[in-house]
Amino acid sequence: MVTGHGKLRSHLHIFGITHNPKCSCEEEETTNHLIFHSKILCNKRNEMIKQIKNTCGNWPTMNERLANDYLQIFVKFVKSIDFQTCNDTLL
Ligand SMILES: [Zn+2]
Repeated sequence: MVTGHGKLRSHLHIFGITHNPKCSCEEEETTNHLIFHSKILCNKRNEMIKQIKNTCGNWPTMNERLANDYLQIFVKFVKSIDFQTCNDTLL
């Protein structure tokens, strides 16, 4: 999803499990929205940013770097997202 490279799809296709085009914060729920902008993922994103900076990484970063340099941290972030909750109950 981030880069379109085949070997990453198995990790990143989890974004596909949500079919609601709108995020709970009323923005269009795109991959970039979830990674960089969504208010409801603020805490989880901050945790990811902290971990990326712990590896001497920079934030904001490019999608390609998330998928290549920070894949493990990024996958943890993706897996921590409860899409059901995002769409149904959070503000
Ligand atoms: Zn959002």
